[in-house]
Amino acid sequence: MALIVQKYGGTSVGNLNRVRAVAERVAAAWRQGNRVIVVVSAMAGETNRLLKLAHDLSPHPSPREVDVIAAAGEQVSVGLVAIALKDLGIPARSLLGFQVPVETDGVFQKARIKRIDASKLLGIVEGGEVAVVAGFQGVDRWGNLTTLGRGGSDTSAVAIAAAVKADVCEIYTDVDGIYTTDPRICPAARKLERISFDEMLELASLGAKVLQIRSVEFAKRYGVPLCVRSSFNDEPGTWVVAEEPSMEDVLVSGVAAEQNEAKITLHRVPDRPGLAARIFGPIAREHIVVDMIIQNASEDGFTDVTFTVPRADHARALAIVSDVARDIGATGVSSDTNIAKISVVGLGMRSHAGVAARMFEVLAREGINIQMISTSEIKISIVIDAKYTELAVRVLHAALVEQGFGEETPS
Ligand code: ADP
Ligand code: ASP
Ligand code: MG
Repeated sequence: MALIVQKYGGTSVGNLNRVRAVAERVAAAWRQGNRVIVVVSAMAGETNRLLKLAHDLSPHPSPREVDVIAAAGEQVSVGLVAIALKDLGIPARSLLGFQVPVETDGVFQKARIKRIDASKLLGIVEGGEVAVVAGFQGVDRWGNLTTLGRGGSDTSAVAIAAAVKADVCEIYTDVDGIYTTDPRICPAARKLERISFDEMLELASLGAKVLQIRSVEFAKRYGVPLCVRSSFNDEPGTWVVAEEPSMEDVLVSGVAAEQNEAKITLHRVPDRPGLAARIFGPIAREHIVVDMIIQNASEDGFTDVTFTVPRADHARALAIVSDVARDIGATGVSSDTNIAKISVVGLGMRSHAGVAARMFEVLAREGINIQMISTSEIKISIVIDAKYTELAVRVLHAALVEQGFGEETPS
């Protein structure tokens, strides 16, 4: 008998038949004698629909009220799943974030979980009931409803699994597991049996939305056994695990694409100490996360500074840096929302040179221009024109994952 957290994403509860299928799967686990906590997302498309209502009503809707609206999708799904379970004769109870409670900080739309009280959840499952918890939502210390950022139900599930010390956290979704790249973009993508936390952290932060990055951080920090699998079949799925020695043998384990960023450039910034802080300080104070930053020291005392931010924050970031640019004497600001970031990730890159060169060669052969480059120990990211996203993913996957780096004879 185990304590299991099962999370079902939007497509998995996308219509009433699927809600019934979810209830059957939960019921099967419960009937085997397990204690089960279910975490549910909104029905597919629902969160987008709700957010659109708020933004159609007002150009700058209050973030607090946007969260009240966005969280409504999960309220419906937990009710539906609990009803479907009861119809199967399984005792079940729905819980919203504040009823658990899932305590978060007060940053609306990207709140971070501070604490989860496990006692009520444990009381429910120990009493023989299934707890059906609304993902994506929490409550701050002033009692405001908050949401955890897009894809946040994954994080709700893993954080709950950590809090109740679950034996396993199963993420049920619309693909069979974690693939070497998005199988919807690249049919040659291969399912991984296992992936390390660090590789998954990189892939998640680089656009592989199969797991929200915070969920992987929680799983790594608290050692939550985490498995991604399909809600439509019984295939074994992919385990996200601590690094194993053989994992370094694979040079590139995944390719990810991110199309939700925008690029901003400040032109001819005077090259003086303290100016980077003047530019990025006000952006950070607005809780805008800056991703890649490029600055070139130039010979005549001026430099261009280019950086990327989430596309949703582009207009705000642009307004902030336009003010800063005037103050510091930069000659102007330009921006581009039509970009994509493509990344290759692999533990083996730590000890191998040449992946970047190979990557640039492959892109050059396709005539794809590289606008920005950034690297870390186990990843290389480049920014390109968004129209080449799928082509870049396919050719990089073919050259670095399918062929295996180093096996190809140089052309
Ligand atoms: P859910 O609604 O279940 O949370 P998501 O749409 O958030 O599902 O995440 C699953 C999707 O992630 C898949 O349908 C797939 O298109 C996408 N995806 C991106 N990269 C990968 C990858 N490397 N492996 C598997 N799926 C991926
Ligand atoms: N429903 C939320 C979203 O669409 C949370 C999630 O699906 O994980 O982002
Ligand atoms: Mg998701």
